[in-house]
Amino acid sequence: MNHRLIFLFTAIALPSAFADTFHLPTANDAIFKPGADEKYFVGTTGKPWTSGTFGCVRTGGWQLHEGLDVRSITRDKQGEPKDPILAAADGTVAYLNKKPSLSNYGNYLILRHRIDGLELYSLYAHLSEIRADLRIGSFVKSGEALAVMGRTSNTRERISRERAHVHFELNFFVNDRFSEWHKKSSPGQRNDHGDWNGQNLIGIDPQAALLADRKHGAQFNLVGWIQRQPELCRVVVRDTSFPWLKRYAPLVRLNSIAQKEGIAGYEFVLNFNGLPCQVIPRAASELKGTAKYRLLSVNEAEYKKNPCRKLVTNRSGKWELGSNGIRLLDLLTF
Ligand SMILES: [Zn+2]
Repeated sequence: MNHRLIFLFTAIALPSAFADTFHLPTANDAIFKPGADEKYFVGTTGKPWTSGTFGCVRTGGWQLHEGLDVRSITRDKQGEPKDPILAAADGTVAYLNKKPSLSNYGNYLILRHRIDGLELYSLYAHLSEIRADLRIGSFVKSGEALAVMGRTSNTRERISRERAHVHFELNFFVNDRFSEWHKKSSPGQRNDHGDWNGQNLIGIDPQAALLADRKHGAQFNLVGWIQRQPELCRVVVRDTSFPWLKRYAPLVRLNSIAQKEGIAGYEFVLNFNGLPCQVIPRAASELKGTAKYRLLSVNEAEYKKNPCRKLVTNRSGKWELGSNGIRLLDLLTF
């Protein structure tokens, strides 16, 4: 290749690479190489790599894995993972757990990001060590090294050296009154991580997000991408004030009828994992019945594809909200 061509190539390639919203969580970039999935994902013991991806991929499709298990590519002489863990975007440290005995995630770290007006939280688990200078509120740059990959967890079965990975999540945060809600809804149950309890985080598929980001470069927009997530169901809540509305205001749609007549409730468009991908204000004249929650529709094809969250259930031919769905709506509107 002559010099002019090289110059042209870099001039075209660099801007879009630097415009990416997300940084990979480690130096392992096989996720972008067709057919290299086994080099990127680590499956559960004895299961294929697909069980290390996001979604209803475990226990015959009935158990959710809410992140990616990303394979180690840097080992020391003993074969222990040494991969630096990298910040997925600019952000601040939201939570640190340095007591591995308190979580099946072992040592883990959560970063808070603001992307296209949305608060998004990245999580990195099973770390061997977290950088000692990091505190809640510390600023970090996209791609900055935060920690070292490890195999920490409080589960009885340890993560084997062969399966060493970082468990990587991208999450939405449900409610900053979680701790209070948990005390009321699960009396007597421990809540070691406060608002950072996994029940208060709704994961999206990091693989899909990373690939869409890479594909669209500077044109990738998180709001539009979230709003286009496959719809599992629609639910109306008779409530007009809850934290999600403010925190995720860019996901709230306009409705001229509700604007004119006043808002009496909100319609959620939920994906299979319970993420309110769109929120539509509704006027009293648009609402039926008086129930606090009303299931409007279910996309059966999406339910068949991703049933593991069991948000809705079919009883003798009729769809209704399952206990998981009601619990989620309770927390969203608490
Ligand atoms: Zn995992």
